Amino acid sequence: MASEPADATDPALEGVRPGQPTPGAVRRFGPGADEGLAELGLAGPDGGDLGGAGLSGAGLGGAGRRQRHELWMRRALQVAVTGPAPARADASADGVARVGAAADAARPGEVADDVPVGAVVYGPDGTELAAGRNERELTGDPTAHAEVLALRRAAERLGRWRLDDCTLVVTLEPCTMCAGAIVLARVAAVVFGAWEPKTGAAGSLWDVLRDRRLNHRPEVYGGVLEAENSAVLRAFFR
Ligand SMILES: [Zn+2]
Repeated sequence: MASEPADATDPALEGVRPGQPTPGAVRRFGPGADEGLAELGLAGPDGGDLGGAGLSGAGLGGAGRRQRHELWMRRALQVAVTGPAPARADASADGVARVGAAADAARPGEVADDVPVGAVVYGPDGTELAAGRNERELTGDPTAHAEVLALRRAAERLGRWRLDDCTLVVTLEPCTMCAGAIVLARVAAVVFGAWEPKTGAAGSLWDVLRDRRLNHRPEVYGGVLEAENSAVLRAFFR
């Protein structure tokens, strides 16, 4: 690491290193605990096919779901590096190189100071409802994490706080605050990219999303496009 983290509780600081096995990934359990396990049917019964109708009809299997999650994650990555502007076609196809270039282009701008974490909320039919990029530095707001902003905007758009049938896709494992907000919003499923061993609350350090003491437990799919997501974060801290 080049320098000491300014804030040890920052969700992305020092969390990801090249070639390091992710601690959370080896002890996942429950429905959709891991994309790979879920696909093999080893992670428990399929808890429901969320948003499948909008893309390829009902009854999507593990492969179809994984494909959809990766597609959504590419959009979240785009939001992470360039902000929550409307989707652009050119950023959806190939991963790191293009995203990296976009990150470089974005660095000099106003998003340069914020850790590049992006989140997108999808409706039950696969429609993008809202997106958010981490804006803590930009706004000086300690709660301005990507997930919170995306949830808030999605609720605003739907005109209700309950996001029952929605899926939240985020490039980094949510922290405790965001995991709490996700539970409160009754989000049906969470898809995240890089694991965050230091502060992650979706299986790494805590598992708020699947805590049986809480009245709502979303399905969780972790490690989706992990390499690409980790690369973007590493590039930021380089
Ligand atoms: Zn957070």
